[in-house]
Amino acid sequence: MNVEKLMADLERRHPGESEYLQAVREVLESIEEVYNQHPEFEKAKIVERIVEPDRIFTFRVTWVDDKGEVQTNLGYRVQFNSAIGPYKGGLRFHKAVNPSMLKFLGFEQTFKNALTTLPMGGAKGGSDFDPVGKSDAEIMRFCQAFMLELWRNIGVDTDVPAGDVGVGGREIGFLNGMYQKLARQYHTGVLTGKGMNWGGSILRPEATGYGALYFVQHMLHLAGKDIKGATIALSGFGNVAWGAAKKATELGAKVIAISGPDGVIYNPNGMNEEKINYMLELRASNRNIVAPFAEKFPDATFTPGKKAWSIKCDIALPCAFQNELNGDDAAELLKNGTWCCAEVSNMGCTPEAIHAFQKAGILFAPGKAVNAGGVATSGLEMTQNCMHLSWSGKEVDERLHTIMASIHEACVTYGKQADGYVNYVKGANIAGFMKVAQAMLEQGIY
Ligand code: GLU
Repeated sequence: MNVEKLMADLERRHPGESEYLQAVREVLESIEEVYNQHPEFEKAKIVERIVEPDRIFTFRVTWVDDKGEVQTNLGYRVQFNSAIGPYKGGLRFHKAVNPSMLKFLGFEQTFKNALTTLPMGGAKGGSDFDPVGKSDAEIMRFCQAFMLELWRNIGVDTDVPAGDVGVGGREIGFLNGMYQKLARQYHTGVLTGKGMNWGGSILRPEATGYGALYFVQHMLHLAGKDIKGATIALSGFGNVAWGAAKKATELGAKVIAISGPDGVIYNPNGMNEEKINYMLELRASNRNIVAPFAEKFPDATFTPGKKAWSIKCDIALPCAFQNELNGDDAAELLKNGTWCCAEVSNMGCTPEAIHAFQKAGILFAPGKAVNAGGVATSGLEMTQNCMHLSWSGKEVDERLHTIMASIHEACVTYGKQADGYVNYVKGANIAGFMKVAQAMLEQGIY
């Protein structure tokens, strides 16, 4: 395999799709050495095939806003790879959504899902619909219009969407209601992240954040460190940040920063139940601002325009968006003594930031390993739906624990260097790739 040639071909085919090209380059650079030890992969052109989505659906979504005005957005579903199971992955509603973003997310999802040990292929979808400032009724009408187009392309055994940025339990509810109406299919398993009364799994809302903290615990344990008493800065305040803050606090760490597009909250005394619950209220308000947190809790302060990475902390957890932590942020964190960074968002760090952390020899792990607990618990939700029963919180949590431990172990197996440093990026990419590549190989050229 020649990474530069592959990248040049891909750039020619998909000009300007920067996030997608960034995600592919990271994986190719990680797997190059192992790939070249497998001539059978080269012969079946696995890498040339694996970097392209199986198919992409693009559709127009037209809906009427509260003023009676007609609005048009674009909707997409990227069915990336089905070698190990039906397509699975979230829907993102955000004004910046475009094919590049969804292709990068679908590509990442393929390897992440492979790491979970569950039989799920990779997909992603969404829309450039901006939920900020929208009423609940507008969100409902948009979700219904979106499903009016999507429903023919999804199904329990073909493609199972879920939430992502801008899509939570409320949106999944509106989408599921419309799906049932259109498809006359009442199986509970066509979407995951559902409400508890209509097929949802206990712990799914918490799972991405909880799983991330379980992964961090394993990393720290291997490095002879303890999370208890550590200070944590995390970005975002939505569902993923909420779950991470909740579990981190429960494990005895102090969450001293959360952030939003408007700025950062410095929270020197850490979280408590009331503060953690308030994060959910902030998300539900559709305003996408974090400033009100400091109005409600006087021991916290808000600084406009600043990122969470400006706060001195032991552990940094990007929980919001891709490329939200860049080279300058990494330099600032390292200067302030940060010794661990785990991406909870997908591709939360730029390549420059990852390089800086690895060069400094601090603990660093990528999103496709750290945040895999979310989709893994979606997989557990699918299993419960197919069995027509609900597991207890204890059962789901134990399974999530086991899955995160096995992902950590896979990363160490493939990522441990001769000097003892664990390159989690390499480990996660190789472990995920090997499973999908092997599955493709065994199923022939198609
Ligand atoms: N959007 C989440 C992710 O990035 C969850 C996907 C799912 O549950 O299908 O993995």
